[in-house]
Amino acid sequence: MPRRATKRGAERTPLQGDFDVVICGASFAGLAVARELNGSGARVLVVDRYEIGERQTSACAAPTGWLEQLGLAESMRQTFEELVIHTPHTTVRMSLPWSFSTFDYRTLCRLLWGQAEPGAAQFETAKVEGRVGSIPAPGTGIEVGETISIETDRGVVSAPLVVDALGWRRILGRGFQPPAAPMSRGLEVHPHGNNRDLEIWIEREIVPAGYGWSFPADGELRVGVGSFDPYHHVKQPTIELAERLDLPAERYQGNWIPHRLREGTEAGIFFCGDSAGHCLPLTAEGIRTAFYFGIAVGRELRSVLAGDKDRARGLAEYGAFNAAHRWKFESMLRVQKLIPRVPPRLLAPALNVMASDAFVRWSFNHYLQIAHFDFAAPRLN
Ligand SMILES: Cc1cc2nc3c(=O)[nH]c(=O)nc-3n(C[C@H](O)[C@H](O)[C@H](O)COP(=O)(O)OP(=O)(O)OC[C@H]3O[C@@H](n4cnc5c(N)ncnc54)[C@H](O)[C@@H]3O)c2cc1C
Repeated sequence: MPRRATKRGAERTPLQGDFDVVICGASFAGLAVARELNGSGARVLVVDRYEIGERQTSACAAPTGWLEQLGLAESMRQTFEELVIHTPHTTVRMSLPWSFSTFDYRTLCRLLWGQAEPGAAQFETAKVEGRVGSIPAPGTGIEVGETISIETDRGVVSAPLVVDALGWRRILGRGFQPPAAPMSRGLEVHPHGNNRDLEIWIEREIVPAGYGWSFPADGELRVGVGSFDPYHHVKQPTIELAERLDLPAERYQGNWIPHRLREGTEAGIFFCGDSAGHCLPLTAEGIRTAFYFGIAVGRELRSVLAGDKDRARGLAEYGAFNAAHRWKFESMLRVQKLIPRVPPRLLAPALNVMASDAFVRWSFNHYLQIAHFDFAAPRLN
């Protein structure tokens, strides 16, 4: 059984106060925002219902360049220069123009938090219940200088700058309810074991619309199934994929994955990561985009804190930055919808063509550009 580190009972003392920034959610997106505020002098509160790094939220595979650029190489467990894709009629091995690495979630979160100036930034475990008062109607905005109060299970905290990095529930905005919402399902098991390949299965027998995966992480395998159709359950397919690989279906981890970009801001609040639908459609890659948009939010907050712009302008500019990516997300969504319609017998020849070095280089480089790790490089200003 995993050890529960989160404070319980008497340890959960009341939490209240005014801060410059409140970041709700301490995973990829929230910690990226906090890291970006290092040295800003702001009083930053980060809240999560679990301790930092306590609950893994993904299979933890990301482009190696992102992990290196953010100084997170120590968390890396295994690096892959190739991607192996299985369909019922063929298996292709693609040489990638850049590599993916699997990493240890707890270590990565600890490293990110270590970059967030823990002296000035405070972390508390608390469950965010919502915004105090009703969410202002779209377009009404909020008053200049007005603080936003957030209700947690330990009390109310307030700040003029608030970030929702709480994942798909988008608790501080108008959330939406699966399965009717544009969401995929993802579930995986984490048996002990080793393998050298990063593998994907595109097989209707496993899941009619979606894919299965096996991501090795040096002593642990993360084997799972994602369904683009939110009405299609993935527990049985995950068990069957594990059985096929002769692995026990144990240590489950799963969640809803939003697959449509949402508004980056709403009623005075910044949204990044899954709360803004930043997980890429088709591939369900949401870690680097959570970093990318988290950094973008962090930079906006820094400018507002430094007095270079007011909150309204910071919100407007981040909202515009987010919206400028919409066409890329929509293009990926179109391919996500198309792939399940390709007849299986055509999938093999199509994949064989797409596995050519030239096509892989072209497509993967374009794909990386959607949220390139260069974005994380320190800015000279
Ligand atoms: C099975 C599965 C495998 C995946 N594998 C990969 C992968 O290998 N690579 C990849 O790039 N993407 C992967 N993804 C997608 C990726 O996990 C997400 O896109 C990513 O985690 C989004 O990061 P985030 O910080 O926005 O949200 P999350 O990582 O979901 O973090 C949200 C945080 O908010 C906290 N929280 C939630 N509600 C509350 C509350 N009420 N109060 C306080 N705290 C709260 C949570 O505890 C959590 O710490 C996978 C998804 C799934 C479901």
